[in-house]
Order: sequence, then C-alpha cells, then structure tokens
Amino acid sequence: MRRKLVAGNWKMNGGLAANAALIADVKAGLAVVGVQADIAVCVPAPYLAQVQAAVAGSALALGAQDVSAHASGAYTGEVSGAMLAEFACKYVIVGHSERRAYHGESDEVVAAKAVAALKSGLTPIVCVGETLAEREAGQTNAVVGRQIDVVLSVLDAADVEKIVVAYEPVWAIGTGKTATPAMAQDVHAMLRARLAAKNAGAAVRVQILYGGSMKPDNARELLAMSDIDGGLIGGAALKAADFLAIVQAAQGN
Ligand code: PEP
Repeated sequence: MRRKLVAGNWKMNGGLAANAALIADVKAGLAVVGVQADIAVCVPAPYLAQVQAAVAGSALALGAQDVSAHASGAYTGEVSGAMLAEFACKYVIVGHSERRAYHGESDEVVAAKAVAALKSGLTPIVCVGETLAEREAGQTNAVVGRQIDVVLSVLDAADVEKIVVAYEPVWAIGTGKTATPAMAQDVHAMLRARLAAKNAGAAVRVQILYGGSMKPDNARELLAMSDIDGGLIGGAALKAADFLAIVQAAQGN
C-alpha cells in the first residue's frame, strides 16, 4: 500500500515571523496526532535556510516551488537543483499551473525541470491539470495525458518511481471549487495507466496527489479514493490547524 504524502505549497506567502510560528504550530500538532504519512512544506526560496533549520530533526520534509532546467550559469533569478539540495530539500514542485500560466512554462520546460530535479537527487512533484474550458470541451484526459507523457518521454524507465505526480485541475486551484472524488479518481487512474505504460512495476508505487482547494472538510472523501495518494495543499497549508486536519485525514486518524 502506498504511503500518503501531504505537501503544503506556501506559494508567495510568508515572512520570517509567520514562518516560524507556522512551523512551530505544525510540529506541535504532529507531536499530538503522530506521523504515519509523508509530510512536506514547499516554501519560497529565500526561506529555505530558515525552514531547513526549523524542520531539522522533525518529520517535516522541506521542498521548493520551482527549479531551473539548467545546472548553473547566466540564468538570472533562477535557482538550481544543486542549490536546493544544499538546503536539504527533498521535494521540488515543477510545472505548477501558475508557472505554466504566468511564466509560459511549456510541457517541455516542465519535463526538463523534472530531469534537473532528479539529477540533483530531488523528488519532483510534477503538476498537471486542465483548465475549465478544456474540461468543458471534454479534453481533460487528452490534456493531462499529454502533460504527463511529455515528462515521461524524457525520463529513464527506472526514474519513474522517483517522481510524485500532482493532479491539479486549474479551475479548482484557489477557487474553493473542488473536483468531486469520482472526477479526481478518474484522472488519477488515467495518470497511473500512463505511468504503467512506461514502467508497470514503478507505477503502483508512485504517489499521485490531488490539489485544488483541498480543505479539512473535503480531504477525507478525496483521500479515500484508491488512486489518490495525498494532497498538494495551497491555501489550507498556511493555517496550521487546517494543514494538520488534512494530515489527519490522510492518516485516517
Ligand atoms: C496549489 O497551489 O497547488 C493549490 C492546490 O492551491 P489551493 O489548495 O489553494 O487550491
């Protein structure tokens, strides 16, 4: 059975004082509810050192929100996988819909970033998802399938089990609208079939997360679906009580 992963995506939120309080509250909560899942926080790059120190020795893993496709050099503003690894990052989000939409990241760029992450020993959390117009046009599987296939096309088969996939319907992110458990399960099953076409043995071990307005009041039913192996949590990751409630839903406690 796959272990669940609950990963917070802080996006461009936080500050030194707020981060310290949030991590302290999450750690205190985990001491009460226990840890039977993988749990991570993906923080803005300037706070990596702060949060690295704050989570040291705890069950909380550190993640970043983006990585350069390049190893080093004249790429002003970018952060390499090796740099993230120096701060003990375990995860890095690649291909979040906000990066695809606001920074023009193509499927090919996202694939190159996933490879760069793997080269630095990081686990890429590869985000895929359709827009509302695409869903309404009946293109969900075609769009999401294409997004994952481009990434899989550049991976070695042996690397399939080193990635995490996050299905995040664009229309559900930050909107309060959530895919129904059945809608999400359908896409997750399609994603697992695509992974299996590349490496059947690995596909059963890959964690496929749902993201898009996952909250304490809808997490349990989403996480009960057979191919939903956790959540990528935006807004609710900024409130310790909400994040912890989703962790508990993932752990079934
Ligand atoms: C996200 O940004 O990855 C996300 C899922 O956001 P939210 O939970 O706020 O919809």
